[in-house]
Amino acid sequence: VLSCRGLRKEFSGHVVLDGLDLDVAEHEVVALIGASGSGKSTLLRCVNLLEEIDDGTIHLDGEHITDPRVNPDRVRQRIGIVFQSYNLFPHMTVLDNVTLAPRRVHRRERAAAEAQARELLARVGLAEKAGAYPDRLSGGQQQRVAIVRALVNSPRLMLLDEVTSALDPELVGEVLTMIRDLKAQGMTMVLATHEMGFARQVADRVCFLDGGKVIEQGPPEQVFATPTHPRTRQFLHRII
Ligand code: ATP
Ligand code: MG
Repeated sequence: VLSCRGLRKEFSGHVVLDGLDLDVAEHEVVALIGASGSGKSTLLRCVNLLEEIDDGTIHLDGEHITDPRVNPDRVRQRIGIVFQSYNLFPHMTVLDNVTLAPRRVHRRERAAAEAQARELLARVGLAEKAGAYPDRLSGGQQQRVAIVRALVNSPRLMLLDEVTSALDPELVGEVLTMIRDLKAQGMTMVLATHEMGFARQVADRVCFLDGGKVIEQGPPEQVFATPTHPRTRQFLHRII
């Protein structure tokens, strides 16, 4: 589904991604781990074309999406992204938050967008919250709404950046359940996380970012139990 080759990204001379390669297969769930500042969020933002890369290529379903002639909005319709802070609009109801993108980007019929949104909300137990404003919802509910909003376009790929980090521990479970359900439905996902437990539970493969590259990857059992690269060992020692 996704293929990144030789990605390079720098911010005013500071190299964040330095020839990074990453492939994600259909239905695969990949967890990005690495120290703060190692470029996990930057990588997700580059994939979603929110950041322009300085070198390299990204292909989505075989299409070269970092080709300058490609319309980024059309690419973003095929990629759902969810951030740590849910970024819901406080002055809009849940339903309006969720249908904003389809109405604006796709110019689809409002009724069709709303029907799909209501169905998705119902599937995650939020049907009765459609008319509520975000400040009436718990953090976990707000994050589930943000995930539903990313799902409304029926994306090929979901990018999740620290989606449980801002949540109280007792609210993490409901978001985790939703991500596990997505995985069970075959959704392809790339998620950045500091929580190794989360990575271990949902990821098929863990990629450790260091020095702007993926320097070690493999099934979570393998990477966590028997890391081969000294940098990975050092990182895991520090946090576990
Ligand atoms: P964390 O685990 O803390 O979320 P991360 O792995 O997601 O970290 P990034 O947010 O991708 O790391 O940041 C990587 C580096 O790029 C950092 O040094 C950061 O300061 C820098 N950086 C990110 N975005 C920008 C920007 N828009 N302008 C300048 N520097 C940036
Ligand atoms: Mg980050």
